[in-house]
Order: sequence, then structure tokens, then C-alpha cells
Amino acid sequence: DSFGIIQSLQKIGLKSENLGSSTGQNWLKSAETMLSSFSPADGQLIAQVQFSDAETYESILAQAQLAFEKWRLVPAPQRGEIVREIGNALREVKADLGKLVSYEMGKSYQEGLGEVQEMIDICDFAVGLSRQLYGLTMHSERPGHRMYEQWHPLGIVGIISAFNFPVAVWSWNAALAWVCGDVCVWKPSEKAPLSGVACQLIAARVFAKHGMPEGISNLIIGDYRIGELMSHDPRIPLVSATGSTRMGKLVGKAVGERLGRSLLELGGNNAIIITENADLEIAIRGALFGAVGTAGQRCTTTRRLIIQESVYDEVKSRLASAYTKLVIGNPLDEKNHVGPLIDQDAVKNYLSAIEKVKAEGGKAVVEGGVLSGEGYESGCYVKPAIYEAENHFEIVQHETFAPILYLIKYSTLPEAIALQNGVPQGLSSAIMTTHIREAEAFLSAAGSDCGIANVNIGTSGAEIGGAFGGEKETGGGRESGSDAWKAYMRRQTNTINYSTSLPLAQGIKFDI
Ligand code: NAD
Repeated sequence: DSFGIIQSLQKIGLKSENLGSSTGQNWLKSAETMLSSFSPADGQLIAQVQFSDAETYESILAQAQLAFEKWRLVPAPQRGEIVREIGNALREVKADLGKLVSYEMGKSYQEGLGEVQEMIDICDFAVGLSRQLYGLTMHSERPGHRMYEQWHPLGIVGIISAFNFPVAVWSWNAALAWVCGDVCVWKPSEKAPLSGVACQLIAARVFAKHGMPEGISNLIIGDYRIGELMSHDPRIPLVSATGSTRMGKLVGKAVGERLGRSLLELGGNNAIIITENADLEIAIRGALFGAVGTAGQRCTTTRRLIIQESVYDEVKSRLASAYTKLVIGNPLDEKNHVGPLIDQDAVKNYLSAIEKVKAEGGKAVVEGGVLSGEGYESGCYVKPAIYEAENHFEIVQHETFAPILYLIKYSTLPEAIALQNGVPQGLSSAIMTTHIREAEAFLSAAGSDCGIANVNIGTSGAEIGGAFGGEKETGGGRESGSDAWKAYMRRQTNTINYSTSLPLAQGIKFDI
């Protein structure tokens, strides 16, 4: 354990007796089935976590319902105070939790730390928000009447999260939901359950310290079957689900059938347009981090580069030369740039995408492949690859969760924008240009159709202050900053008559 993993786990408080689903400090024991968490960094078993069964699910939901009855009556700024302390508790364990995230998920230690920092940031944001859950007041058309709207807590928020941001996505939802007066039931990815247990421990300790009921923060360990229980459960008015488009369609349908609310954060197929007016230094650096960061396993990873023909060859050769300098290896070792994919299935998908792009006529600029030998024993390390391709290729239309970058050539900007928009997904997009006309055209109503559109910044690495999410098959949900909190509350319009008569709206007469 040269990276001190065991010490870090101990510092967070992870012990063998608390590796299960939980409504708080008392961990609910459940069925015998255990879920093993292996590190893609070295293939080692980190821990086994208890899988939850339907009975555990029921007890967690019951606890959550009870907790909501109390929590919704705690004044929002006081709820904010507790979230502030959760943020502080995260500050204390930032290095240790960042290490666990890196080891369990395979992202670099720097990115693991960044993910915990994002959690701290959203807690700070939520503290401020707890005093700003504003409703509007309106002028009534009737004399002696007043109208206003208020935002009330919604109830239980179900959170289903993906493996690639095993902790941040939870906090984007949970920190806002808590200040809004909701309670959370979180099902982390079955590929990174231990990071989930760590977060639950940290939050539950803070709630307990304040004498708050158990069940404000709940963790449930399981796979898609627990996710299905949540989607169909009318006791969960909002299901916030992050993951593949395939999963989102199933969750959206199940929640829609019971007319619940879903907030979907699904796959992306993000492109950077590099125009002839780009600062190529910035463009290459932005594309490089966007394409290979987190080994291509971010929803906002740059998957396509749409390059103007006059700079195409230069961009291609500079990128290819940058790729030769990438060091691939254990994500906890800070000299490495690129870590492993999450598991062997992901490696298979990567290899099959490479086969497909070639079969469709793509040409290798930087050839891919699986790495073997010392340091690569887990079998999850692959080479970041670049292929020249066309936008209409079936594989280019598809999100492959791996570091494969497609180069596409264009001549006019309208053509580039049409290519950028010409995929089923609509998450993140960027243009590299120093020309104001090009930048503004890209940001206009006829420009990028994505939820995120950047200028001279890559497609990944969003800040928590803005609303995060995308259009089309990305699911339409918005999380994190701006007014994303409104999804976690119910709006109530109130009309108050303080006059001595009862006039009807629209001047309708109804006299007896
Ligand atoms: P995944 O869809 O395999 O799993 C995500 C979560 O959904 C897991 O917790 C899983 O157990 C659960 N799940 C699977 N099937 C379900 C079902 N039928 N009902 C309910 N729950 C179900 O995704 P993954 O491989 O963990 O993550 C990668 C995907 O997530 C990529 O497509 C990526 O783009 C996407 N993602 C999107 C965002 C975003 O904000 N838009 C952020 C991170 C990841």
C-alpha cells in the first residue's frame, strides 16, 4: 500500500461493520449478498459492501419519510448551517476522500481532489441559497387581493449516480435538496460503492451531531434493480438520475408513467470547433485535456474535433505529437497523465469502437490498444487514440466512454455548427476562435444546441455556479448552480383576499 490507501480509509472512518446501506449512523444489515469493489488501478479488491434487498429498501424509505416530516419544518437557513458543516467535514477529509475516489474509480489523484473540492463548493453555494429560496409576488387583478408564490420542500429525492463522478454528482443533488428541505435516498454506482459509503458516513455524522433524525441522508447499495424500485416508487416525487442514455430512457419512462418528476443527466458526444482564427496553443491544450482527462470517461469528454480545413493538418500533427508525451499509469502516481478505464467491459467497448471506426473507413492518426506488463496488471489501461472520421459514421454518432477522439474536417462555419449539432446528444460544446463574429454565431439561437457552449475553453471541467446539463438524448435536466434548485421544490401560488367582497377573476359574474 505505497499510496497509503488503508490509512485514508481509516481516517474517513470506514470500518468493516459499516459497509452497507444506511439511513444514518446505524447501518442496516441486509441480505448475505456482497458487492465487491475492485480498483481498476491495480486490480485489487478494496472492500466488499453489503448489497441491499427489497426489505432494506422498504426500511430506508420508511425512515426517509419520517425524517422528511421533521426536516421540512427546520428553517431553511438552519438547514444551510448543517450543510455548511458537511462542507467543513469534507474539507477535513479532502485528501483522503480524493485518494479513495482516485483508487476506486481510476481518475487521477488531482481529479479526485477536484471532485471533493466540487462537493465543498456546492455546499458553500447551498449555504447561500438557503437564504435565497425566493418566490415572486404578483399584482392581483382583483381589489383587496394579494398574490404571491412560495417554494415548499418536495419530499424524498432519489439520486441514482454513475461511476465516473462517484461523489460529486451526489453532492450537487444532495446539498441543494437538503437546503430545500428534502431528504435524499442515494444509490451510488455499483462500480464505486465504497466512495458512496464514505460520503454517507461523513454526512450522517454531521446530522447526528445536530440531533437530527436519521433518514435525512440515506444510502442504498445496489444495482439497476434498486434503481428500478426507486423509479417506480410514488413515495419519491423526484428521481435525479445520472448515467447512460439507455438507463435514462428507462428511468424517464418509469417515473413518467406515475407522473413523477425526473431530472436526467445522460450521455454526451461533445465537440470542439477549431476555426482558422483559433489560438492554436489554447485549442490544442483544451482538446488534449478534454479528450484524455479521466481517460475519456467524463460525460463532457471531447469526442469530436471539427477543424477548419486550412488549419486541419497543423492541428492533427500537433495533437499527434502531444499524444506521444502522455504518460499512462497508476492514477495515484502524480507523474502519470492518464489512468485506467473502469473495468474490462469498458476495455471491450473501447476496442470494439476502434474496430467499428476502421470498418466504416476511419484512419488512425494515433493508434489505440490495450497496455500490458508491469503496472498494467488490472488490464484496464488503454492508449488514448485519434481517428480521422466522418460525422455520419454510426460509431461517431455514439458515445464510447473511452479516450477515442475523432477528427472531422469542415470548410464553412455554418457547416461546422451543423456537424456539431448533428448527433443525438446535446451536452457540451466549444468553439476555439479569436473572432467575435464566429464566437457569437456559435452562441446564438442558430448556434450550438447544447446545454453548455464555451468559447476558448474545452468541453469538460464545468464550475458549480452554472446550471449543468444538456439537451436531446442528454436528458434535459439541470443540476448544480443558477436556479437548478427549483427542481427540488414544489411551487405554490397563493391568493389572499383581504377585502369585504368576493370578486371573481376575469370579472365573471355569479350572483344569486
Ligand atoms: P449506467 O447508465 O450504466 O449507470 C448509471 C446508474 O444507473 C448506476 O447507478 C446504475 O446502477 C443505474 N441504472 C442502470 N440501469 C438502471 C435502470 N434500468 N433503472 C434505474 N437505474 C439504473 O452509467 P455508467 O456507466 O455508470 O456511467 C457512464 C454514463 O453516465 C455515460 O453515458 C456518461 O455520459 C453519463 N454521465 C452523464 C453525466 C451528466 O451529467 N450528463 C454525468 C456523469 C456521467
